[in-house]
Amino acid sequence: MLGKDENFSDYAPMRWRNMLLLAFGQKKMFRNPLVAVMHFVIYAGFIIINFEVLEIFLDGISGKHRLFAPMLGSFYLFLINAFEFLAIGVLAVCLIFLSRRNIIKLRRFVSKDLDGWPRSDANYILITEIILMTLFLTMNAADTLLQARGYGHYAMHSTGNFAFSQFIHPLLNSLSNQGLVVLERICWWMHILGIFAFLNYLPYSKHLHILLAFPNAYYARLWPEGKMHNMTEIQKEVLYAMQPELAPAEASVPGKFGAKDVFDLSWRNLLDAYSCTECGRCTAACPANITGKLLSPRKIMMNTRDRLEEVGNNLNLNGVFKEDGKNLLSYISVEELRACTSCNACVEECPVSISPLEIILELRRSLVMEDSNAPQEWNTMFSNVENNFAPWKFAPDERDKWASELGEK
Ligand code: SF4
Ligand code: SF4
Repeated sequence: MLGKDENFSDYAPMRWRNMLLLAFGQKKMFRNPLVAVMHFVIYAGFIIINFEVLEIFLDGISGKHRLFAPMLGSFYLFLINAFEFLAIGVLAVCLIFLSRRNIIKLRRFVSKDLDGWPRSDANYILITEIILMTLFLTMNAADTLLQARGYGHYAMHSTGNFAFSQFIHPLLNSLSNQGLVVLERICWWMHILGIFAFLNYLPYSKHLHILLAFPNAYYARLWPEGKMHNMTEIQKEVLYAMQPELAPAEASVPGKFGAKDVFDLSWRNLLDAYSCTECGRCTAACPANITGKLLSPRKIMMNTRDRLEEVGNNLNLNGVFKEDGKNLLSYISVEELRACTSCNACVEECPVSISPLEIILELRRSLVMEDSNAPQEWNTMFSNVENNFAPWKFAPDERDKWASELGEK
């Protein structure tokens, strides 16, 4: 809501298609099929296991046990077995993802962009998922063991053993019936409380992308990646210089050039910042970063979000935004902005349709146009473009002189 307006209401069918392909289908992830399948297991586990969570939740409210079992008959057994299969998959993938971050240390995960909270955030979520899946399997194991012993209300909905939790039985066989009931209840409570805690944690975490990937894919930019937006303020100035008769009688002060703070970016850029998964694929593909420059497109997105949070806290505290003497350039340095080659590799790589480049361009436009903050080499190039219509210092009519000189030789 803090960003500038930008219209994305066109091409609705194409936008729905994008959402299905990019967010539901995770199309871009499949460039690396192995990682894509692993990510898909976690994603499918998150979505599909919600059916089980719904049953747990309804059981809690109604005081029933395995509410859906009598309704679904043998299909219930199939479902729970499928959930257990997913749970094992999620467990395995979380362990692999943890080791990629902490043991194998992939370059994009050891970058200093992630120092502090972002690194812990990713680990916390993976560990929480491991705990939740373990609770789910242990709950099923205790339950089916109690069924087999014909104990209490557990015996009333005999489902038989489930595919994977039955292998936990040997660890639980020595427990008394009471002990098993306590274990089953602890797992039940911790599972449901864990999920509620996770939902509350989500807005403070990069895992907000679980929700925001969908609107972000819907509002994906549909124009060709190489296309840059002209600055309307500049276009008008050029038009009036070429055709002064079109200039309004009362000259108005031109709007701001580029962006200095989050208020100057579009709402789409701000949604991007909250949708970023901090995966680092953009930074891994960024030629500036690869060649050792300070720029990391992932950091640009994280910094934009940090500044948004700061502005949000300011607003919550004061009712209206109170000038705090800071802006986005308090987070992102001039050196980073100058290092960008505008190649769009980051945009191409991003699995959730984010454009770090748009933010970089807006900030750089402000630096150059508002603050005249550009290196001398750039200023020379700018005046060449202005006077010679090319970056070089030669007059336009001398451009092909080199060819005639070749002929002379
Ligand atoms: S557009 Fe800029 S930030 Fe993005 S990959 Fe290219 S150089 Fe890096
Ligand atoms: S901008 Fe995209 S590619 Fe880069 S870290 Fe965020 S989600 Fe990953």
